[in-house]
Amino acid sequence: MVEEKRERYTCLCPVCGYEFYACKSIAQEAFGIEDAGHGSCPKCKTFHNLQLDEANKKMIVTPWDEYLKKLEERKQGVKNESNT
Ligand SMILES: [Zn+2]
Repeated sequence: MVEEKRERYTCLCPVCGYEFYACKSIAQEAFGIEDAGHGSCPKCKTFHNLQLDEANKKMIVTPWDEYLKKLEERKQGVKNESNT
């Protein structure tokens, strides 16, 4: 039985519905930063952020623009909390 050394994770493109595979990025592997992955959909070429979902052996795929928006929101939240 041949086992692949690097595990592949299923990615489902939310833009066109195409399913592709990605390996963990170096940052995800070495530092455990779960949302440190990124890649383009092979079909529609949308650039995505890939967040590791280890339990389900898949990646949560978020278009980069949306991901940046989420980051911004998270930053705002942190800022508000530290104002007290
Ligand atoms: Zn796509």
